[in-house]
Amino acid sequence: MGTAIVWFRRDLRMSDNPALAAAAEAGGIVPVFCFEGGLYGGRHGSANRNAYLRASLRELDASLRDAGSKLHYRSGDPAVQIRRLAAECGADVVHVNRDHTAHARSRDRRVQEALDGDDVELAGHTGISCAEIAKIETGSGGPYRVFTPFSKAWMAADRRDVATKPRKLRTPTGIEVGKLLSEERLGITAEAKRIAGAAGPGEVAGRKLMREAAENAARYAKVRDLPGLDETTRLSPPLHFGTVSARELETLLAEQRSEGAKALRRQICWRDFWLNVIRHFPANRTKEYDERFRGMRWHDDRASLNAWKRGETGVPYVDAGMRQLLAEGWMHNRVRMAVASYLTKNLLIDWREGEAHFMEHLLDGDESQNNGNWQWAASVGADPQPYFRVFNPVRQQRRFDADGTYVRRWVPELERLPDKYLAEPWEASEEVLEGAGVRLGSDYPRPLVDLEDSREEAIARYGDQRG
Ligand SMILES: Cc1cc2nc3c(=O)[nH]c(=O)nc-3n(C[C@H](O)[C@H](O)[C@H](O)COP(=O)(O)OP(=O)(O)OC[C@H]3O[C@@H](n4cnc5c(N)ncnc54)[C@H](O)[C@@H]3O)c2cc1C
Repeated sequence: MGTAIVWFRRDLRMSDNPALAAAAEAGGIVPVFCFEGGLYGGRHGSANRNAYLRASLRELDASLRDAGSKLHYRSGDPAVQIRRLAAECGADVVHVNRDHTAHARSRDRRVQEALDGDDVELAGHTGISCAEIAKIETGSGGPYRVFTPFSKAWMAADRRDVATKPRKLRTPTGIEVGKLLSEERLGITAEAKRIAGAAGPGEVAGRKLMREAAENAARYAKVRDLPGLDETTRLSPPLHFGTVSARELETLLAEQRSEGAKALRRQICWRDFWLNVIRHFPANRTKEYDERFRGMRWHDDRASLNAWKRGETGVPYVDAGMRQLLAEGWMHNRVRMAVASYLTKNLLIDWREGEAHFMEHLLDGDESQNNGNWQWAASVGADPQPYFRVFNPVRQQRRFDADGTYVRRWVPELERLPDKYLAEPWEASEEVLEGAGVRLGSDYPRPLVDLEDSREEAIARYGDQRG
C-alpha cells in the first residue's frame, strides 16, 4: 500500500469526492491544492471568487484535519509542483476529478507528461460533471451540439455510485505543508469577503443548500422563473467550487417524482451540456461557435457598456439585474438572460464584454457555463436561441416580476412608481413621475436606446452577417 496524492481543484469537499475516496484507499494520502496564477489572477481572475475559494479551502483543511490529515498548498505551475510533491512523498499515483475546460485539459496533459517521467499515474475520476460526459456521444461517435438529444443520452447514461466520505486518513509526516495564499496576494477586498461570506462558502454551507434544494424541489418548477421570490437553489457557487457534488444532488432528486425535481435535474443536465460543449469546442472560449457570426461588427460604445455594468441603462429590469450582480456576485437566471440579450442585441455590444464582466463578479463564474450561456444569449453559440429572438425587458418584467418586488429591491429610486410604469418609467407623465419623486435624467437615467428601434437594427445586423 503506497502513498497517493489527492489534488483538489474545484471539488473542495469530503463527501462524494471520488478522487479523495480513491486516494484514501492507499496506505498514506497527501491532499494538495495548487494555486495556479493563471486561474486566480489571469483573464478570469475575480476577487469575489478568490474570497470564496480561500474560505472553502480553510474549511476543507479543517475537515481533513478532523480526519487525521491536512491540506498541503503549492503555488505555481502544477506540472512542476505536483511532480515535485510526488517525488517528495514517494507517491505512485495522483488522483484528480476530471475537468473539461481547455485550460484544465491541457494542464492535466502536461502534468501527466511530467509524471510519466517518474512513473507516477494521474488517475482521473468523474467528480465535477454529474454524468461521465466524455462517454456521451452521438450514434456516429461525435459530440452532441444540441441540448435535447444530449439530455436524452445524458438521462440514459450510466452513473457512478456516490462515493463514501472517508472518516480516517493517514498522512505521512515531514512533508512541507506550504502556504495558503494571503488575502492580499489573492486581491481579496473587504467587499469581496462580504459577498463571498454571504453566499456561504465551504462544504457545510453548501450541503445545507443542497438539502434545502432537495426538500423544496417540488416547488422548483413553479418558482424558478420569479426573481422577486428568490427561491432558486443558489447552488451554482457550491457546484462551481465543488463544495457540493452534482452527482449527489442528482441522487437526492432522482428519488422524487415531482415536476419540480425533474425540472431541477434538467438544469443539472444543462450544466453538463455546457461542460460537454467546451470540452469538444475549446475554441469557443474566445470565438463564436457559429462561424457565420465571426467578424460581426459590434458597437464599440464604452459609455453604454459602462452604464450597463453599473446598472444605469434606464431600463429597470436590466438595471436591477446588473446591480444585483455587483452587490451579491450572483444574478437570477431569468434576469441574466435578459441583461445578456439587452447588451448583445439592443446595444449590439460584443458578448465577450458581457462574459468578461460576469466572470469578474460572479461567484459561480465558470468558463464552461458562462461562455455557453453568453453564446446562447447572443445567438452565436451551439444550440443558441434564434438571432431574431430579442428579449423585451419590459415584457419580461411584467411577466416575471409583475408586482415589481425584484425591481424595487434593486432600483429603490423607483420604489414609489406605480406598477403600471415600473417597467417603462419613460412612458409615465411628468405628474406621475413627480408623485413618485422621480426626475428622469437625474434620479434615474433615461433609456440609452429605444427598445423597438434597437431590436430592429439588431435583427438586420445579425441577418446581414449571417448572409
Ligand atoms: C448570460 C448567462 C451567464 C451565465 N453564467 C453562468 C456561470 O458563469 N456559472 C453558472 O454556474 N451558471 C451560469 N449561468 C446559468 C444560470 O444562470 C445559473 O446557473 C443560475 O442562475 C444559478 O442559480 P441557482 O443555483 O439558484 O440555479 P437553479 O435554478 O437553482 O438551478 C440549479 C443548478 O442548475 C444549473 N443551472 C441552472 N440554469 C442553468 C443554465 N442556464 N445553464 C447551465 N446550468 C444551469 C446550475 O448549476 C444551478 O446551480 C448563466 C446564465 C446566463 C444566461
